[in-house]
Amino acid sequence: MGEKKKKIIKTIKVNADECNGCRACEVVCSAFHATPKYSSNNPARSRIRVIRHPIKDIYVPVYAGEYTPAECAGRNKYLLDGKEYEECAFCRASCPSRSEFKEPDSGLPLKCDMCEGEDEPLCVKWCLVDALTYEEREEEVEEQVETEEAEAGLESLIDKYGFDKVTDIIARMSQKGQ
Ligand code: SF4
Ligand code: SF4
Repeated sequence: MGEKKKKIIKTIKVNADECNGCRACEVVCSAFHATPKYSSNNPARSRIRVIRHPIKDIYVPVYAGEYTPAECAGRNKYLLDGKEYEECAFCRASCPSRSEFKEPDSGLPLKCDMCEGEDEPLCVKWCLVDALTYEEREEEVEEQVETEEAEAGLESLIDKYGFDKVTDIIARMSQKGQ
């Protein structure tokens, strides 16, 4: 058994009944994560996507979760108020079977980082109808090595280009940096 340590658990509660589909959350997320910050906005780069059915007034915000190298063998289809949504529409994973939650140019996976460094997630701040609310609580958890975003990015590059090519590039880059 590992050591116990205190951890802040960050939660964004989504109240889909309140969401009006304005997509301000997508805009601010993509702008905050642009390089340099706020230099552009493109919802395709956002780590939150709003699944929409405007005729029925249904909007469901979904957050980008973990990268996965393999697609699921089974798929989900949801039927909400008479509309059948695309396969995997509400899934949080960045995965090979679809384009959601991937950088449009590089294909690198996107994952919500809770706006690291900010006192409150920006999507929550910009959601003027309180469809998104932020909560923090402290919990005792087993100490474990967490998979960082950089690791997930590296893993996806290895899946795309192969281990040898990626290590070769890293070796060349580290030589340049010496
Ligand atoms: S900002 Fe709020 S109301 Fe607007 S789309 Fe996002 S979650 Fe929905
Ligand atoms: S918490 Fe920050 S990183 Fe996550 S979806 Fe909201 S704006 Fe994007």
